[in-house]
Amino acid sequence: MLKVENLTKSYASGGRDLTVLEAVSFELQPQDTFAIVGPSGSGKTTLLGLCAGLDRASAGSVWLNGIQLDNLSEDQRAAVRNEHVGFVFQNFQLLPSLTALENVLVPLELRGVRGGTKTALELLERVGLGGRGHHYPTQLSGGEQQRVSLARAFANRPKILFADEPTGNLDADTSATVVELLFELNREAGTTLVLVTHDLELAARTQRIVRIKGGTVVSDTVNQVGARVEI
Ligand code: ATP
Repeated sequence: MLKVENLTKSYASGGRDLTVLEAVSFELQPQDTFAIVGPSGSGKTTLLGLCAGLDRASAGSVWLNGIQLDNLSEDQRAAVRNEHVGFVFQNFQLLPSLTALENVLVPLELRGVRGGTKTALELLERVGLGGRGHHYPTQLSGGEQQRVSLARAFANRPKILFADEPTGNLDADTSATVVELLFELNREAGTTLVLVTHDLELAARTQRIVRIKGGTVVSDTVNQVGARVEI
């Protein structure tokens, strides 16, 4: 489902290369739930972006649902994402000129799905935003934007869902609702979940936890679901 091998990412910085991710490898099977944890700046978001084909690695390989991403053009990677991937960004990345409903419709329209409005409205309802579909992102709180971004990521019933701090901006109740939705998608649609999180309770619900520090994997453990987790 997802395989990464010796994944390395460097950025040019002040005339030299700054390596922020070094030789990361792991493999996930369909329907796995996986948490990436680690201190701020350790490379979690970078790793998630490479796995989802949002960015290209400096070295190493990514296979997503059997498709090797490394040598694809940007357009080809976008096509793979539209087909296979849902992504929840840390800063939501909703399109400001579109309403909540229109934002959720974007992935459906990109796939040529007609009559997606009913699905999009149902998704908004499920994230607790029924009746807010006509609101623009600037008219929604951070937590509400987060939930629209989740509804958008769910819209295509993706085979794999990447979420960067999906509960980061939410109060306890909304966070619990969102976590239920994520695991429901995993159980019912078989969606693989790859979560970057500082939320110990969320990490504890996944089957496997990778810790990264300074861009390298320091531990990769099979989690006893529900067990206490230390990050
Ligand atoms: P946080 O938990 O704070 O979100 P993170 O573990 O997700 O952090 P990343 O966002 O992946 O960390 O960043 C890892 C390192 O890469 C950081 O030192 C960051 O400054 C650096 N970095 C990220 N993007 C770029 C970029 N475009 N150019 C240069 N350096 C970058």
